[in-house]
Amino acid sequence: MPPSASVRPASASPRNGGSLRASGQGGGGPGGKRSSSFPGLPRLSPPPRRSRRDQAGPGLAAPSSSCRQMDARRGLCGACVSAAKWVPVLFIACIVAWSYYAYIVQLCLLTVQSAAERWALVVLYHLFFGMFVWAYWRTIFTSPGSVPQRFRLTAEEMDGIESSEDHRASLEQLVVRKDLPCTMRSIHQEIRYCSECSLVKPDRAHHCSVCGRCVLKMDHHCPWVNNCVAFKNYKFFILFLGYALAYCLYVVLTTLKYFLLFWSSLSSSGSDGSK
Ligand SMILES: [Zn+2]
Ligand SMILES: [Zn+2]
Repeated sequence: MPPSASVRPASASPRNGGSLRASGQGGGGPGGKRSSSFPGLPRLSPPPRRSRRDQAGPGLAAPSSSCRQMDARRGLCGACVSAAKWVPVLFIACIVAWSYYAYIVQLCLLTVQSAAERWALVVLYHLFFGMFVWAYWRTIFTSPGSVPQRFRLTAEEMDGIESSEDHRASLEQLVVRKDLPCTMRSIHQEIRYCSECSLVKPDRAHHCSVCGRCVLKMDHHCPWVNNCVAFKNYKFFILFLGYALAYCLYVVLTTLKYFLLFWSSLSSSGSDGSK
């Protein structure tokens, strides 16, 4: 039952590293490729997003109804995609709920005859069950770790880098000036940069295309918890795997006797009926 399938987004690969060169070549996000103001290089960042009022200019008409319908449609699609990401979590929750019913109701309450054994099984079961559910919950709902604010670049910094002759050197100088602890470089020996989030990537941070943001010390995105496994929830993920194994072993070992009894009674009744 522990999650076996998990994905690392393409953008999280150190090969494309999110460097200046690589960050615009696929980027991992749904935004796709971006053109660059530098010959042969992608843009450093997405163009500044202006509100619809700014785009229309002062005093111009408000957004048309067709634009509002388009926004509503995009919002509906986004909500459907977000809901679909919870399907694996719901699947796990259903299996856990079924196992709780099977063990507590069918085994402990309806099958076990001895009251002492029944209570011992119920208490121990809830111990394993509680630890397992707690670790699963914390893995899902603990933020994996967002990039600190000082790694994000302001519009002025972005303009300064883009308008400079050697923007890579400008970025290096910016990292030194802001005293950003970046030792990792891309395969092109450039500072790793995410154009989706407009930030300098800290060491071991990667952009998750499923979550749509950069996360610290990213390991992978796990669909079974609908979250990135990264800096802040790595411990809970490991605990979740360990407790899931302990929970499964406890259930198997304590039900083995009744499982064998059930099948032996079935086979004996079958042989009696055949005579
Ligand atoms: Zn990013
Ligand atoms: Zn993710």
